Amino acid sequence: MLNTAPVNTAVAPISLSSNVEPSVQIRNLDFHYGEGDLFKQVLFDINLDIYPGQIVILTGPSGSGKTTLLTLIGALRTIQDGSLQVLGQELRGLNPKKLVQIRKSIGFIFQAHNLFYSLTARQNVMMSTDLYPQRHGNIAPARQAADILGQMGLSERVDYKPHALSGGQKQRVAIARALVNHPKLILADEPTAALDKKSGRDVVTLMQKMAKEENITILMVTHDNRILDVADRIINLVDGNLESDNVVNDNQAIASGDGADLRTFML
Ligand code: ADP
Ligand code: MG
Repeated sequence: MLNTAPVNTAVAPISLSSNVEPSVQIRNLDFHYGEGDLFKQVLFDINLDIYPGQIVILTGPSGSGKTTLLTLIGALRTIQDGSLQVLGQELRGLNPKKLVQIRKSIGFIFQAHNLFYSLTARQNVMMSTDLYPQRHGNIAPARQAADILGQMGLSERVDYKPHALSGGQKQRVAIARALVNHPKLILADEPTAALDKKSGRDVVTLMQKMAKEENITILMVTHDNRILDVADRIINLVDGNLESDNVVNDNQAIASGDGADLRTFML
């Protein structure tokens, strides 16, 4: 049910089609925090290609560098060594203006959903459309926000503030905010960590639907073995090294296989 593919994508990239440009292409990426006595390398020679429409789950022990890698891909940190291309653009050495531009094409979903508690669900989603006033057709941001909240099953909650929403509903607002600009890439850091089983499942099912319908690339960090079955591919990071990279062919088999196969990926 699993094909083990070589980690070193410079040798043999995992590709859905050799003609398709990867959404994310990483070559020989190192990263460190601090200098001098505080120097600490946290990523070592990462090579990775991720393709449009792929849902990639990134697992690994706490402190292994998952969030660091996500923030580098999201153009939220400066690339030090190696190459990192996102949506066809090399991030290394890019000027701040261009980096902001890249960030606009990425949807970020973090564990702490970072909603504004004084704003309604709709206004929270509109924060994205206000920041990035690209219109889809002639639809005004308020309408656009309500539409996407409706797609998240929140049409009854559009004008509620976060304190009146459940954890799952808040996370769906955060997802709506990430999706409202139709990003080509979604970076999600433990999006289900604070959710109960059903809410977690609903959230990832929604993300999966978006990925397949809109050919969006999703890179999601999770420790949650209940949602591994949405992955097309599971990558494991250990001590800043890509330890394994598995293309998952039979999603159902993973979903129901709570034995040895799953443990391969877990902490
Ligand atoms: P993960 O998300 O896998 O838990 P992180 O990417 O958050 O891992 O962290 C990787 C390593 O880098 C850890 O040892 C962490 O302590 C360290 N680290 C993370 N952020 C910083 C920072 N801003 N300054 C210094 N060290 C950091
Ligand atoms: Mg983390």
